[in-house]
Amino acid sequence: MFASRPWNALSTLFTTNSNDPHSIDRAAKLYRNAATICEPTCTWSGQLPPKVHKNPSYSCKVFLGGVPWDITESGLQYAFRTFGAMKIEWPGKEGKHPRYPPKAGYVYVLFESDKSVKSLLQACTHDFSNGGEYYYKVSSRRMRSKEVQVIPWVMGDSNFVKQPAQRLDPQKTVFVGALHGMMNAEGLAHIMHDLFGNVLYAGIDTDKHKYPIGSGRVTFSTHKSYMKAVNAAFVEVKTPKFTKKIQIDPYLEDSTCSMCNVQPGPYFCRDLSCFRYYCKTCWQWFHSSDGVSYHKPLMRNGRSSSTTSSSSATGAGSSSQTSNSASSFSDTSTLNCGSRAE
Ligand SMILES: [Zn+2]
Ligand SMILES: [Zn+2]
Repeated sequence: MFASRPWNALSTLFTTNSNDPHSIDRAAKLYRNAATICEPTCTWSGQLPPKVHKNPSYSCKVFLGGVPWDITESGLQYAFRTFGAMKIEWPGKEGKHPRYPPKAGYVYVLFESDKSVKSLLQACTHDFSNGGEYYYKVSSRRMRSKEVQVIPWVMGDSNFVKQPAQRLDPQKTVFVGALHGMMNAEGLAHIMHDLFGNVLYAGIDTDKHKYPIGSGRVTFSTHKSYMKAVNAAFVEVKTPKFTKKIQIDPYLEDSTCSMCNVQPGPYFCRDLSCFRYYCKTCWQWFHSSDGVSYHKPLMRNGRSSSTTSSSSATGAGSSSQTSNSASSFSDTSTLNCGSRAE
């Protein structure tokens, strides 16, 4: 099931060069989004547990998918302000130049109150046959009454405790990236338990509006299950609604370098022969010989301001290892750029 496939050509992408001080950060950044280019080692397919919510509390942020390509800020204001005071968050807004009309085909609406989210959902068509998806008609200059998918987030879906009253050990915790936006904590726990066993807890990372950012954490009760998950690295999740390749890495803590024990160790080598934290100097020194130069560095994402973790259950800080929310709803197709060893 977990046959290890040599990375071959693909691995060279992540190789760090001891003569280039920036190569570690570059490789770590690239690896963060490796789910888009790496092959899964195993596939989980099945039906996720149905979401049952009694009187749910929603995040004030909702995702709108499939918006008309020529929609404008005022067009969206016109369509949604009847539900309450709101703002639009355009894709790529982190930068200085918001790209709109949104080529990506999606935007976020930020309401001031979650009551607005509830009234919006009541005004939506609710397609129970297709997993309870919500649609709302939006018009633009060129498109009349286009059905736009509205994806709210129930805040209770951010955490799932499978076995209460158990200590959550950060060293038995994995970071899971490239999550599908509709995957909640219970679903994530379900998948990881099926594949690796002994899940204690699953959490979905959220932004300051408590909306998912496309990553999460899973804590196991045994080291064996943890290592099985780390070794799997990339798992394809197939449900009747979506297929998405998720990425599993060790959950990183603030740590000093395990070599010199002096400097902070922001780089983690996930190769099993290392499996420890390094400072930049020690990484370069240790990985300069041929036999280990292909090792891939992991790094935590420093953008803690935008990634307030919804739970500190793992006892770790709030910065997340990745945030790839833009693609978290898309069904990424599998690119095969690593040559397979047959
Ligand atoms: Zn060091
Ligand atoms: Zn290494």
